[in-house]
Amino acid sequence: MELKNFIAGEWVAPAQARYVTKTNPATGATLAQVPLSDAADVDRAIAAAAAAFPAWRRVPAPKRGEILFRVGRRLEERKDDLARLMTAEMGKVLTEARGDVQEAIDMAYYMAGEGRRSFGYTTPSELTDKFAMAIRDPIGVAGIITPWNFPAAIPSWKMFPALVLGNTIVFKPATDTPLVAGEMVKILTECGVPAGVVNLVYGSGSEAGEAILGDPRVALVSFTGSVETGRHVAARAGEGLKRVSLELGGKNAVIVLDDADLDLAVDGIVWSAFGTTGQRCTACSRVLVQAGVYDALRDRLVARMKTLTLGDGLEPGTDVGPLINRAARDRVHEYVGIGRAEGAVVAAGGVPVEDGALSAGAFYAPTLLTEVTPAMRVAREEIFGPVLSMIRVQDLDEAIAINNDVIYGLSSSIFTRDVNHTFRAIRDLATGIVYVNAGTTGAEIHLPFGGTRGTGNGHREAGTAALDFFSEWKSVYVDFSGRLQRAQIDS
Ligand code: NAD
Repeated sequence: MELKNFIAGEWVAPAQARYVTKTNPATGATLAQVPLSDAADVDRAIAAAAAAFPAWRRVPAPKRGEILFRVGRRLEERKDDLARLMTAEMGKVLTEARGDVQEAIDMAYYMAGEGRRSFGYTTPSELTDKFAMAIRDPIGVAGIITPWNFPAAIPSWKMFPALVLGNTIVFKPATDTPLVAGEMVKILTECGVPAGVVNLVYGSGSEAGEAILGDPRVALVSFTGSVETGRHVAARAGEGLKRVSLELGGKNAVIVLDDADLDLAVDGIVWSAFGTTGQRCTACSRVLVQAGVYDALRDRLVARMKTLTLGDGLEPGTDVGPLINRAARDRVHEYVGIGRAEGAVVAAGGVPVEDGALSAGAFYAPTLLTEVTPAMRVAREEIFGPVLSMIRVQDLDEAIAINNDVIYGLSSSIFTRDVNHTFRAIRDLATGIVYVNAGTTGAEIHLPFGGTRGTGNGHREAGTAALDFFSEWKSVYVDFSGRLQRAQIDS
């Protein structure tokens, strides 16, 4: 099946008949041919979005919100089939795929409500008979560039606030997750988003992505992906003075203190390290364990990891699905080799799995590296796979220092029963998200989402924070005195 781009309300073939084959990472089965669109395709999509903007920005925001309420309902009706499609195209187990769609549902309803809120503010003027207010304006064409690991959630975090605030969209998903992206756009259209307001262009980053970054008609770029690509996106978008939001990688740590509930810690660590096969930006990849419980935690983790079933995420009973593709699996294995060479001990896993039913997939055994030290590459670089490193610490201060001493600052967590430790950790962990007595994953859509340092450029997605990125402030002064009043000069 050859997929089509969606431009100006029509499903259209790419200008050049070039495609990349999309396969199921669990079975190797071919799912679709994905267009490798070129600059001409992107140009048409941007032209359509630019042409649709003047009318869309004047649609009353509550009406735009009503469309999103319908989108939320439609996503609810289709939750299960979208989740199945997602598992087939990127491998996460069905329960997690349902959670991914649920995030999009939550975001649809939340942003739908913003249609009747999107608060600005009024404030007194310093002059008599003068009124002052600040209101939100849409910005224009939004370039939305997404990774493959949250095929419904991430596009919804970007598209729904962009739309409710009156922007139009050129959406370029990762070529690894074309199918859910296409369904999201179909749903938006069925629910009443007018032609040209949302345009979908499939293609590579180096060609379709670049064409978005270089086009002066694109006013803002919302990007989620790796730190390497993010750096480039920021530079290219910066040349054009575009507004750009970057959500990049993580090297997220769980701290386990001597007084922690170890069973609870094991639950939280296993869920956040091996859920989505470790391919979440918030995945736990380091455990900073106080010396007194290091051995006990290691043994419990190894025991629990033995119970994890690797397999096709569509099969009931599967705990951990495949990686996104074999190249990703091979990169994970390379990192395990690097860890071994640096002196880490492989306490569990450490091998690709190709037995029986898993022979055609991209499977890797959930892996625990122990005796890891903070300077090792496996303790500093994002692996983006099911590999967890255990680092021994003497106390909370050392744990916090190690947590903060990596280039990323997305999520962190602490397991402790001590209220003083808890509040010191909340104060001093330099990450955008902090969990107490839970793993590093599980963000809710009405709170700001994003990270510090190399995880981004200071913007936040979700919650009301998203409104700030997707709108422009306009300050309005209305003088009803009938005479010239000069601010700062006439009192
Ligand atoms: P990636 O950077 O390879 O690709 C992301 C997107 O950017 C894709 O659509 C890709 O085609 C596009 N792209 C690549 N080169 C481009 C270019 N030159 N110009 C424009 N676009 C370009 O990332 P990935 O492998 O798809 O995703 C995994 C990464 O995403 C991980 O680092 C992960 O931590 C990160 N991530 C971050 C968050 C977050 O919110 N912080 C969430 C999910 C994933």
